[in-house]
Amino acid sequence: MKAAVLVVMAVSLLVTSSSAQAQDEPLTLVGWGVASKDLDTFMAQAADVGFDALITGSLDPQFLRQAVEAGARHSIKIFTHITPMGHVKSAWTAAYPEQPIPWQVLSEDEQAAASFISAGRNIYLIPYQWGGEPIMTNEVLTTPAVCFSNLEARALLERMIDTVASVPGLEGLGFDGFGYQNYHRCYCERCQRLFEEFMKARPELGEEEASVEFFRDMLVGYINHLADYARSKRPDIKTTIHIWPVFAPEPLYGNRLDVDYCGQTAAWYTLWPQEKIAKYSRIICEDARRYYDRQTGVGMIGYYDRPGEFPVKDAAQVEMELSTMIENGCRRIQVCSTIHVINNEEIAGVFRRHFAQ
Ligand SMILES: [Zn+2]
Repeated sequence: MKAAVLVVMAVSLLVTSSSAQAQDEPLTLVGWGVASKDLDTFMAQAADVGFDALITGSLDPQFLRQAVEAGARHSIKIFTHITPMGHVKSAWTAAYPEQPIPWQVLSEDEQAAASFISAGRNIYLIPYQWGGEPIMTNEVLTTPAVCFSNLEARALLERMIDTVASVPGLEGLGFDGFGYQNYHRCYCERCQRLFEEFMKARPELGEEEASVEFFRDMLVGYINHLADYARSKRPDIKTTIHIWPVFAPEPLYGNRLDVDYCGQTAAWYTLWPQEKIAKYSRIICEDARRYYDRQTGVGMIGYYDRPGEFPVKDAAQVEMELSTMIENGCRRIQVCSTIHVINNEEIAGVFRRHFAQ
């Protein structure tokens, strides 16, 4: 009885001390997206809303240097991200013009779904989740990504990291688009062969369970390899990600990643109920250090001002989402897109109230 009381006391002390510590950390706001011109004006606007850091997708060293300089004038740190989608597509075409791009392979049903989703305006007429947790059977992303078992493609991403690591003053490297086009696996011949070898080595697992573990760990290993590679090039480089597209069997796998700032979706572009936002925020931020001390959990909120294409989020909705994330332990928050927030005065005001000094 006494021991049980002591355990309860010890647990409550631990909980109190960790949440008190979290509340002491400053609230920071990071945005995906940087304007392509008038950088100084843009950085001034971003600083006014309360952004501390921005993530661009440019790999042009000259643009990155300009962004770093403009950001520094307004105390905004700059990251640039790489993707296994468009970035690899252009790099592969330049490096191996005769060889097809080693895209991930979909099943026949998924391929048919991809064609249907891509046709006409279907994507806006069905309950499509844009790489977030799917509602429909066979929902897939319409953008292909390279297969994570292809090492030539991975080497092209390493060359991009070389470029990123060489830009003076750049805060760090971001990852975007690292996931499966069908949200769970790749069906190419090599992945199929590797998966069969894995199943032979782990006969205690059923096929479904084995698939989740094998393809999750392939994805995690791929991202962690690239993050390690970046640190081998520049030991002080910071790494960040937004987990997307979702890994449907385990949406919040992000704490398995050895990155500094792990962004996971806490409030998606489609309207999630408040209870889900609260629950996800707690998991993202409380479990961030389960595998790696380096990691800070980051809640991601989606905001697009594109009526007719994405659900409209008014100021009250954005306020509910942000305050729920903060009340449930998120001290660092990512939003996509920076530009849509800045350009909507009412929404910018909601962010300003939480983040501007
Ligand atoms: Zn594959």
